[in-house]
Amino acid sequence: MARYTGAVCRLCRREGLKLYLKGDRCYSEKCAFAKRAYAPGQHGQSRKKVSEYGLQLREKQKARRIYGVQENQFRTYYEKANRQKGVTGENLLRLLERRLDNVVYRLGFASSRIDARQLVRHGHFTVNGKKVNIPSYLISVGEVIALSEKSKSSPKFAGMNDTLAGKTPAAWLELDKNNISGKVIALPNREDIDSPITEQLIVELYSR
Ligand code: SF4
Repeated sequence: MARYTGAVCRLCRREGLKLYLKGDRCYSEKCAFAKRAYAPGQHGQSRKKVSEYGLQLREKQKARRIYGVQENQFRTYYEKANRQKGVTGENLLRLLERRLDNVVYRLGFASSRIDARQLVRHGHFTVNGKKVNIPSYLISVGEVIALSEKSKSSPKFAGMNDTLAGKTPAAWLELDKNNISGKVIALPNREDIDSPITEQLIVELYSR
């Protein structure tokens, strides 16, 4: 699956808010958005009237960028969400949250979703004891995500116990800090998802 390989800080500047794509750097004074909180490019600082379509498009792009999902895959999630019972926008966010790379990030095993994606790709995590190296794998209730035994002894994860000490995972996840594992105890409700997304705008965009 193709993925965005450009400068990620440009994405925050384009969306006009911090998307926290670079882990610790996002909380430091090196954050590009903290220095230049306007869109990149020659006309980045000019004021433009944004149409309704423009707002909807930006919201979709923001959601894609937060979760690191390409256009086609995002549309597939939307179509799946639309077929499910309930509110389509909430279904969409729930599907995005269920991605394995997102769950690894939410449990605190990675400093950003980009980092989580790479760790999953490199086979550092297991789901119910089996290695899963597909970042888009959709986790289900009851599944246990754990750092593999082999990776526990890797220097890469040497400080993991200290990192997790101050972590509180999302309400729908249970974290076992000693074993560096986490269990999905429920699927997330809308109020459990803190991503700054107005999902209704995305639904309106795809309903055009
Ligand atoms: Fe966005 Fe993080 Fe870059 Fe700041 S450092 S612009 S929050 S990706």
